[in-house]
Amino acid sequence: MTEPRASTCWSCGATGLLAFFESQSIPTSSCVLLPSRQEAEAWPVGNLRLAFCPACGFIQNELFDPDLIDYTQPYEESQAFSATFARFATTLANRLIDSYDIRDKEVFEIGCGKGDFLKMICELGANRGLGIDPAFTEGRLETTADVRVLNEFFSERTTHLTGDLITCVHTLEHIQAVGDFVHLIRQSAGHRAGSVVFIEVPDTMRILSEGAFWDIYYEHCSYFTLGSLGRLLRASGFHLLSLETGYDDQYLLVEATTAPSNGPDAGFPGEDDLDQVAKRVRVFSEAASAAIRSWERRLEDAEAAGKRVVVWAASSKGVSFLTTLEGGRSVSHVVDINPYKQGKFMPGTGQEIVAPEFLRTSPPDLVIVMNPIYLEEIRADLTRLGLAPEVVAV
Ligand SMILES: [Zn+2]
Repeated sequence: MTEPRASTCWSCGATGLLAFFESQSIPTSSCVLLPSRQEAEAWPVGNLRLAFCPACGFIQNELFDPDLIDYTQPYEESQAFSATFARFATTLANRLIDSYDIRDKEVFEIGCGKGDFLKMICELGANRGLGIDPAFTEGRLETTADVRVLNEFFSERTTHLTGDLITCVHTLEHIQAVGDFVHLIRQSAGHRAGSVVFIEVPDTMRILSEGAFWDIYYEHCSYFTLGSLGRLLRASGFHLLSLETGYDDQYLLVEATTAPSNGPDAGFPGEDDLDQVAKRVRVFSEAASAAIRSWERRLEDAEAAGKRVVVWAASSKGVSFLTTLEGGRSVSHVVDINPYKQGKFMPGTGQEIVAPEFLRTSPPDLVIVMNPIYLEEIRADLTRLGLAPEVVAV
């Protein structure tokens, strides 16, 4: 680790952050839809230097430049095409509806993306939904439920918008001024007595433990663990109802309210993690380098043996994996079940994104799966296609 940084923590405002990992020239967007290989390879890049706040445990890319991000570009982040993900989202939506009796109520989603989760909660609980997201695509949301979406950023101008349930799913990690942003969510929640806030973000503890370099990318400028997320919410005036990991410990899920009468908020299992995060941060750079070397060797060996390698998932993980690895360009194609991504090209390395069916005409020898949670689903797809390549997950 280098000397303490001059920058301040975007979450708690403390100084003395410690930089611990750098990555140069990474694509500034990994979900952007690019129509040609040329445009994909020429996509702008930015730099990343992760810094850890010893005061609150939050991690930020201190080189992040918000001007390099444009969420109004055609952008595809939806995971709704995966049956595994759909099961998780449905269970979660039902749990929120049942826990807080969110039926015939108003749901407000901050950063609703294409509106998939908002639509689900409104359909399952006969609720009325309002979403806000600059990357929303008009005409994409098909529902019989009462759902509308504002195509803009959630900001000081929109804190009067509220709901009985306020959700913010995979949005905070894209926000630079997270401390201010959570205060805005608190203001929104304060306009409706008894409202419940649900927030979900990736769990950085897992990323640190696994040396998971593929889970670090430019759009994610803010990184939380159970401890730092809990601290930020409490500091913003929330009372926590639950705080836990989910989706095979890949996500952090927190439920909170503005009313302290809803039972004790005495801390949750795993929340007291500051020392553990500090330890893992110290060895992360080494762990990530080891993982990078190991995957580079694997790609080299495959190339030397004349094997055809594909990556499964044109996700941010896929983009980060391919652009980080020397030899990432030797991967021939990237497979994705999301039809909006097929026929488009990977930012940075330029591979064409193809449907699983493409593999029939061009069978791979090795399939690298970007998230182990989808292994079963992907193996079933390959079997259905009559293919039996080697399948490995990151
Ligand atoms: Zn901090």
